[in-house]
Amino acid sequence: MGWFSERKERRNAHLVATLTEALGQALGRVFEAQSKQIEQSSHFLDQLQDLSARKAAQIMGSRGGRRTQARKRTENRQLREPACRLCRDPYDKHFTVEQYNAHLLHSQPEQLDPPTENGTEVAN
Ligand SMILES: [Zn+2]
Repeated sequence: MGWFSERKERRNAHLVATLTEALGQALGRVFEAQSKQIEQSSHFLDQLQDLSARKAAQIMGSRGGRRTQARKRTENRQLREPACRLCRDPYDKHFTVEQYNAHLLHSQPEQLDPPTENGTEVAN
């Protein structure tokens, strides 16, 4: 082996070592980045799963949890009886005739005493 080829060989060996080291570092970074990405995406998948579970519960509606059902009942009641003072507080004395009549319309009919019939009975 001549001086030139020996030198070339050494240079190549050095080059290979440098390249290997660089490659190793690069690969290490790639792996690091990938595992970070995997970590992030699995976290993202967890969130997605949580979201889809909640969405499914929403779509199931009445079959949802007790809290969902309670919320639905409240919403329905509020839709049927918007801001009825007497429903909110039966002992509230500050109501108008309109509010009282509106309350009679959506309250239980059995609870109402027909005044005219009673009056007729008393008169008889
Ligand atoms: Zn009412």
